[in-house]
Amino acid sequence: MKADVLIVGGGIFGCAIAYYYTRNNPDKKVIVLERNELCNSATSRAAALVTKIRTKKHFVPLSLETYRVIPEMEKLLGESMDMKYVGVMHVAASESNEASLTELIKIAREFGQPAEYISGEKAQQLSPWLRTEEARKIAFLPGEAYCDPYLLGTFFSRCAKLQGAEFRQGVEVEKILMENNTAVGVVTTEGSIRADTVVIAAGAWSPLLAAQAGIGLPMAPVRSQYWITEKKDIFPVNSPIVLLPDAQAYARPEGGSLLFGIREKKSFTASPKNIPADISDFSFSPDKGMADLTEVIDKLARFFPSVYDVGIKFYVAGFSGYTPDNNLTMGVPPGVHHLLLATGCVGAGISVSGGVGLAFAELAAGRPNPFDFSYFDIARFGQIDPFSPAWLDRCALARSTKVSG
Ligand SMILES: Cc1cc2nc3c(=O)[nH]c(=O)nc-3n(C[C@H](O)[C@H](O)[C@H](O)COP(=O)(O)OP(=O)(O)OC[C@H]3O[C@@H](n4cnc5c(N)ncnc54)[C@H](O)[C@@H]3O)c2cc1C
Repeated sequence: MKADVLIVGGGIFGCAIAYYYTRNNPDKKVIVLERNELCNSATSRAAALVTKIRTKKHFVPLSLETYRVIPEMEKLLGESMDMKYVGVMHVAASESNEASLTELIKIAREFGQPAEYISGEKAQQLSPWLRTEEARKIAFLPGEAYCDPYLLGTFFSRCAKLQGAEFRQGVEVEKILMENNTAVGVVTTEGSIRADTVVIAAGAWSPLLAAQAGIGLPMAPVRSQYWITEKKDIFPVNSPIVLLPDAQAYARPEGGSLLFGIREKKSFTASPKNIPADISDFSFSPDKGMADLTEVIDKLARFFPSVYDVGIKFYVAGFSGYTPDNNLTMGVPPGVHHLLLATGCVGAGISVSGGVGLAFAELAAGRPNPFDFSYFDIARFGQIDPFSPAWLDRCALARSTKVSG
C-alpha cells in the first residue's frame, strides 16, 4: 500500500492537515493513522480560546486562517460549529503589562481587527465576577471567540473524509521507515505503509518518532490544567473571555459556570518515554491541581475574589508540547527528506490549527509555505536531548513563567 501523504496522529493538527491537503490536491491519497480515537488526547481537553491577536505577531496569520476556515467547513457539512464569539478582555495591572496591551492594540489594528479600551465599570458589567480596581488599562477585542475543540478537530476530519482522506483509528505507528536520510513510510501495528511524505503530528509523543529519524525534537510534554466552577449568576453565559496577565490566569464562560486556568509555580512535565499511549486514565494530579491553585490563589483573587469560596465542579488537564521560548516547533527538519514535523503546539494548537493545516498541506504538496515559520525553526536551540531532565525542566519553566493567553 502507498499513500502520497501519511499523517501520524489524529489530533487537531493531523486532521487539519488532512483537510487542507485533500481540498487542494483532490487526486492524491492521504492516510491519517491514530492509535486511539481522533481528537481525544490534547485536543478534546483544550480550554479552546481561539486567540486571534497576540503580541507574538507571527502566530496571528495562523489563527486568522482558523477563523476563515470555520465557515468554509460549516458550509461543507451544513452544520454550525457554534463558535462563541464573545470577545476577549485583557486586564493589565502593571506597567509592563500595560505596555504589552498598547502593543497588542497596535497589532490588532495592523491586522484590521477591532480593539478598544474599556472602563473598569464596563468590564464589570460584562463579567460581574471580575474585580477591576487594580487595572491600569483594560482592552476589549470583540472579534475573538472560544469553541468546542473536539468539534473543531472533528469538523476538520469529517470534511477531510468527504474529500477522500482515509482515517484509521486504533492503528499505531511503531516506526518511521527511513532510507538513508529520507522518510519512505511507516511500520504500524497492522503492517507497513509506504508514502511519498510522512508528517509527524503526534502531539506530546512526537519526540519519540522524530528520534527515529535522528532528530532531537526541541519540545517537551508539559501539563496544562484548568477548573470549572459551579453555576452562578456572576458568570453570564455570553460574557467575554478574560485574560489576566498579572495573575498569569485566564477565564471564560462555560454554560453559566466559569472555566479558569492558571500558570502554576512549577509546571509538571514528563518525558515522552514515560507518558502512556492512552492518557484517558493518566493521573495528571492526585489532588486535581488544588496544591498548585492554592499557591497562586491570592494573586488570582485580586481579580476574581470569589475564587476563595466558589464551588469547583470539574478539573481538566492534559499535555501540550512546550518549548523554552514559547514559540511553536514545527516545519521541515534539517537534513531529513520527505518528513515534516507538525509538532510543539505550545498550548496554542486550537487557535493556530487552520494555519498549521494549510502550511503543512502546502509543504506536503511540494509548494512553498504560505506563512513565515522562521520563529518556529526546529534547529533554533542547536543540538538538544528532548528526553533529558534538564531539557524537560527548561520547557516546563517556559510555561510557568508565561503571562499571555
Ligand atoms: C488543558 C489544556 C488546555 C488548552 N487550552 C488551549 C486553548 O485555550 N487554546 C488553544 O489554542 N490550545 C489549547 N490547548 C492546546 C491544544 O489542546 C493543543 O495545542 C492541540 O490539541 C494539539 O493538537 P495535536 O494534534 O498536536 O495533539 P493531540 O491532540 O495530542 O493529538 C496527537 C495524536 O497523536 C496520536 N499519536 C501519538 N503517537 C502516535 C503513534 N505512534 N501512532 C498513532 N497515533 C499516535 C495521539 O494518540 C493523539 O491523538 C490546551 C491544551 C490543554 C491540555
